[in-house]
Amino acid sequence: MTNPPHHDAASPRDLVGIGIGPCNLSLAALAHPLAELDAVFYEQRPDFAWHRGLLIEGATVQVPFLADLVTLVDPTSPWSFLNYLRARERLFLFYFAERFHIQRAEYDSYCRWVAQSLPALRFHHQVDAVRWNPERDVFEVDFTQLDAEGEAEALGRTYTRNVVLGVGTAPYVPDPLRPLVDAPGVPVVHAADYLDHRSEVLAADHVTVVGSGQSGAEVFLDLLRHRPAGRERLHWIGRSEAFAPMEYSKLGLEHFTPDYTRYFHALAEPVRDRLIAAQWQLHKGIDAGTIAAIHDELYRRTLHGGWPDAVLTPGVRVRTAGRIATTKVELHLEHLQQDSRSRLTTGAVVLATGYRERSLDRILAGLDPYMRRDNSERPRIDDEFRLVLDPSVTGSVYVQNAELHTHGVGAPDLGLAAWRSAAILNSLTGENPYPPAARTAFTTFGLQSTRPRIPRARQELHLTPLVEGR
Ligand SMILES: Cc1cc2nc3c(=O)[nH]c(=O)nc-3n(C[C@H](O)[C@H](O)[C@H](O)COP(=O)(O)OP(=O)(O)OC[C@H]3O[C@@H](n4cnc5c(N)ncnc54)[C@H](O)[C@@H]3O)c2cc1C
Repeated sequence: MTNPPHHDAASPRDLVGIGIGPCNLSLAALAHPLAELDAVFYEQRPDFAWHRGLLIEGATVQVPFLADLVTLVDPTSPWSFLNYLRARERLFLFYFAERFHIQRAEYDSYCRWVAQSLPALRFHHQVDAVRWNPERDVFEVDFTQLDAEGEAEALGRTYTRNVVLGVGTAPYVPDPLRPLVDAPGVPVVHAADYLDHRSEVLAADHVTVVGSGQSGAEVFLDLLRHRPAGRERLHWIGRSEAFAPMEYSKLGLEHFTPDYTRYFHALAEPVRDRLIAAQWQLHKGIDAGTIAAIHDELYRRTLHGGWPDAVLTPGVRVRTAGRIATTKVELHLEHLQQDSRSRLTTGAVVLATGYRERSLDRILAGLDPYMRRDNSERPRIDDEFRLVLDPSVTGSVYVQNAELHTHGVGAPDLGLAAWRSAAILNSLTGENPYPPAARTAFTTFGLQSTRPRIPRARQELHLTPLVEGR
């Protein structure tokens, strides 16, 4: 195994990014014009991929197209979605399509267009560890270079003054169902891999979708549309008390603004935890359009009389599950309100059971002695998205989409990715290359202002020109 050239400690990089999903891709795109910033981004996958297993035809992104990688902080950036359409000679088509919410497949394609053009990205690089080197005042980032098969090809180390973690989320499978996944015979797959297994799922005599969130709804709708009328043989179950719509009112959406994120960060830890649980409909419900499409499809299937053979039951938990021979699975169900139990035999299961933030503990094990944690042992993260570390660590470790507990429901939201990336670059460079907007919501959250501290000079400037202009 050969060792690739080390980026030596004497000339460390300014920034190493770990993971290239939309969040760190946004950061890389906004960092690109900052020529003095020496940054590199590592991704374990062979290329950029955004939830490929769920790029179902017609499925759309839940945020408007302006929530691309850059536009909400720099609409003049060459990496905007509109510039991607221009480069692909599709701007007029989009203009007349009048789509505010683009298809997931188009978002994935746009991100890949950006990723193919940014020189600082390194794919096939899995980061294994980050540690602080107090002698050299730098972070050491160890990685494994992977070959085309994903096998380890070479080990490497990069030295850097700062790190940004954008490792995202991983599919979550509840314990009772875990033994079923990957066992041969009956397809039991997480929704994240749905399209890879769609044909074998559709071929099953009976299919059960577990999970009442957006993914569950999209998979159920896709299956419903592809099952013969009257012989649908589908079950859709979920723990939540209803197949509830995602909160999408215009004032409700102001929870996905920099103003709300700053307000939330300044709250006490127990208040934050209570709010996250209470705000589930802001990020866990089902998009109203998908609910309508499901009802329309069910209704269409009653036109010639009879009811579709599709059972939709909320408030149900899978207690345990087991295989029956090699062709069936038996789910032991519990109704949370009725406190009743039943068994469901099925030929395929799609687990739309969500995602969890990838644990940072493995990569950051070497930093543990320096890390400050909250009462629940979660990393403390400051208002500039930096891990709170022992003051002896002079560099910073920023996080993207790992700060739900400190910054609230906006953490995974694509609409805030560009703003957070800009905030990180402003903090990192200390020069405000992307000055934050003074205000981003009509709602005034809280009685004490948590609006951004705009540098004195700029405030004065801001006031003076307006008056004179007029
Ligand atoms: C199916 C689905 C649909 C969604 N749709 C929307 C939507 O419409 N609107 C919205 O606002 N949000 C949506 N979200 C939420 C969120 O925007 C996405 O999860 C988004 O992908 C988050 O981007 P990310 O960059 O944080 O993480 P990810 O996209 O998860 O990317 C993280 C990357 O890090 C890499 N990585 C992890 N560990 C390492 C390592 N050790 N070394 C190197 N690389 C590593 C992974 O391979 C991955 O590519 C959706 C989420 C899901 C799951």
